[in-house]
Amino acid sequence: MTPEEVIKFAKENGVKMVDVKFTDLPGSWQHFSIPAHELSEDIFVEGLPFDGSSIRGFQAINESDMLVIPDASTAILDPFTAVPTLSLVCSIAHPRSKEPYSRDPRYIAQKAESYLRSSGIADTAFFGPEAEFYIFDQVRYASTDNKQYAEVDSEEAHWNSGNATYHNGSRSLGHLMNVKGGYFPVAPNDTYQDLRTEMVLKMEELGIQVETQHHEVGAPGQAEIDIRFNTLLKTADAIQLYKYIVKNTARKYGKSVTFMPKPIFGDNGSGMHTHQSLWKDEKPLFFDADGYAGLSQTARYYVGGILTHAPALLAIAAPSTNSYKRLVPGFEAPVNLVFSQGNRSAAVRIPISDNPKAKRIEFRPPDPTANPYLLFSALLMAGLDGIRREIDPGDYGFGPVDRDLYSMTPEELSEISSVPGSLDESLKALENDHAFLLEGGVFTSDLLEKYIEFKREQSDVVRLRPVPIEFSLYYDA
Ligand code: GLN
Ligand code: MG
Ligand code: MG
Ligand code: MG
Repeated sequence: MTPEEVIKFAKENGVKMVDVKFTDLPGSWQHFSIPAHELSEDIFVEGLPFDGSSIRGFQAINESDMLVIPDASTAILDPFTAVPTLSLVCSIAHPRSKEPYSRDPRYIAQKAESYLRSSGIADTAFFGPEAEFYIFDQVRYASTDNKQYAEVDSEEAHWNSGNATYHNGSRSLGHLMNVKGGYFPVAPNDTYQDLRTEMVLKMEELGIQVETQHHEVGAPGQAEIDIRFNTLLKTADAIQLYKYIVKNTARKYGKSVTFMPKPIFGDNGSGMHTHQSLWKDEKPLFFDADGYAGLSQTARYYVGGILTHAPALLAIAAPSTNSYKRLVPGFEAPVNLVFSQGNRSAAVRIPISDNPKAKRIEFRPPDPTANPYLLFSALLMAGLDGIRREIDPGDYGFGPVDRDLYSMTPEELSEISSVPGSLDESLKALENDHAFLLEGGVFTSDLLEKYIEFKREQSDVVRLRPVPIEFSLYYDA
């Protein structure tokens, strides 16, 4: 839609409020609203003022006036408001110059796309994220500093307690159903089919094309909804809307969704594997029938770039302290920095396909706490660096490795590098290796410094607190 069409669309739909949404540095949607009578073609050029000082990762208090500039092409009706509300995704700009704001994640994504076009290597990069999440019963009280361990309703506690025959104090007659009946058993084991379907239908209504939805391995209630690949900025915008739809649809039914990578010890974590391919003049660049796993040399270099920069990339792809509780052996999460056809324990998997258009690489370490704008941009920059420097992964000990990495001996594994063990390690790696992100001014040092500072603060929040398991280890020591 153009601004003019948006205004017409708003009138036709009896819009009462206009909600403007933008993404902060860690990757959450923030918003404010204006009454419909304030909507004009002007706001798409002049923007709307807001105070940027309280937005995470944005401005200092002494220079806090900022503008949001709505992107007309993102206009939708917000499906979760009581009155018809127009929703617009925005970029951020400085109030006087109207220059794009250098810490706006959306701006990074726009710069990454134009950098790709100017590189001459390709003109289009496609991204296909597979986000996973857990659906829990509604949290009873919000977590505060002193009540960090929010109480969830009984269902999960009940499943986690080992399939007991007592539930909520009442005696049940039969043995409880086994939720883990293979990968994804049908109902009545799977109780979330209708909820996931409602999420999918809402996504499709709002322009996000969905490819599949299913229960995931984690039980009960781990879910996955996969959206169709698209270009960088569009996919990042789609992920923001995707999370909004998933969380708010769940909420309607008294459920709560978490995208945190490892909510349950001993069960599968939630990832956001990211499929990627490059195209030029409408032709795919990643396929070669004679290459290993059908990969072209360009694709191999792209993989080489991703794997050599992987420790630094993980500061953006696996950006929470909790992310590293997911990246451990045994749960289909990647731990080793190698590429492989089909192998899900490798950081880069090459899905089997003989169709040149479908040839792509899958980077598995990302999880859905990543800021999608920064994630896709950083992956693209690493891949392009690999192509430019002709980094063949085979020359750097990155495989291919087709054996199950989980079953290798420590000696065998010592030949292979693994993902960083903590957020602090990844942040350190990013500090030491980020020149590839600064190419063409796509990322800026200022943004990366602010990002690292923010993430270190979060890491300290966790590091400085005694956690329950420490009491069982050390209380009586
Ligand atoms: N949940 C796994 C992860 O953390 C992936 C499982 C799968 O999609 N096969 O990456
Ligand atoms: Mg999947
Ligand atoms: Mg999955
Ligand atoms: Mg996958």
